[in-house]
Amino acid sequence: MGKILGIIGGGQLGMMLTEAAKKMPEQISKVIVLDPTDNCSASQVGAEQIVADYKDKNAIIELAKKSDIITYEIESGDSDVLKSVEEYAEINPSPETLKIIQDKFLQKSFLLQNNLPVPEFINVDSVLDLEKGLNKFGFPALLKSRRDAYDGRGNFKIDSTKQIFEAFNFFRQKNLMLEKFVPFKLEVSVIAARNTKGEIKTYPLVENIHENNILRLTIAPARVNKNIANIAEQIARTTMNVLRGAGVFGIEMFVTQNDQIIINEIAPRVHNSGHHTLQSTETSQFEQHLRAILGMDLGNTALNYPTIMYNILGPTNFEGKYKPIELVESNLFLKMYGKKISKPLRKLGHFNLVGKSGETIDQLLFKLDSLKGKMSVNPA
Ligand code: AMP
Repeated sequence: MGKILGIIGGGQLGMMLTEAAKKMPEQISKVIVLDPTDNCSASQVGAEQIVADYKDKNAIIELAKKSDIITYEIESGDSDVLKSVEEYAEINPSPETLKIIQDKFLQKSFLLQNNLPVPEFINVDSVLDLEKGLNKFGFPALLKSRRDAYDGRGNFKIDSTKQIFEAFNFFRQKNLMLEKFVPFKLEVSVIAARNTKGEIKTYPLVENIHENNILRLTIAPARVNKNIANIAEQIARTTMNVLRGAGVFGIEMFVTQNDQIIINEIAPRVHNSGHHTLQSTETSQFEQHLRAILGMDLGNTALNYPTIMYNILGPTNFEGKYKPIELVESNLFLKMYGKKISKPLRKLGHFNLVGKSGETIDQLLFKLDSLKGKMSVNPA
């Protein structure tokens, strides 16, 4: 008899988890998502939905009572509430792991204690703390909101003394931290999985290109030498080992000018830079996450084809309904998320360009360039 899976969040990640769950009927009989948007992405592919805010305590209790196992697609959930519903459902990754990760300061402190490489950082409670930190790190430095920040929305880059008050006031009383700026040459990530039995597997290192702080494309595999790929993988394994949570995690890292690897941040969930695995590997990150939280053996993570994942983002100057996007091209796999409304830089879908005909990354990038004109989002 399959289990009932509850997911906090029913956006694109919840949608792709639901689709993976549908292919495992023996293990998962039903998916229920908790999401504030009526007819959210996950509900469009067959998940039952509880319409409520992610932090609505009663809704989380209802979800837990209806589910055997709970996971999440967002890291901003209330870990104390999750802890309190463990009597009803198993929660993976555990509320303890979530609590460490969802606060960037606690996360970086934890990594540092475990001898993992992170940028220098300090906690900031006052303008005085900020001034002290800037004296230590120099300019530029990044003031970051410790919690509830994603897609770069919680960061303020401070370039000079003149910006100190502006930066501090920008966050209005939030808990903050200051981080030394890393002049990286590349951003990379490892999608890693750890199952409830402690087995760990990693996907090959990928390269991430951001625009406006939002992931624009992922190149799999990353264009780095083997040594860098091995070190990144080792860092990811150690991270998974010390964190002890079960599930798939996205571990974002910087490669510095002198080829050092530094962890930027960890997401305790399936990750945008792992979407290529829908076509490039035998086991997608979504199936892997389900395998991990159900205590099944983890699947094969080898990369079968070089692949580029490209995010389809809402244009910056428009909010409203948009025309359907259709892209027919050999070895191009388009996935739209069923979101009715486009908003500036909203993630509406993605596609994977897969090198199934023996193309190299350079050839795929060239192909991507020729496709860019065809995939803009236009008002309906
Ligand atoms: P975050 O939301 O903290 O992952 O940051 C979003 C983006 O800001 C990252 O993908 C980097 O491009 C940049 N960033 C974050 N932290 C640093 C840092 N310490 N040094 C340089 N760039 C950073």
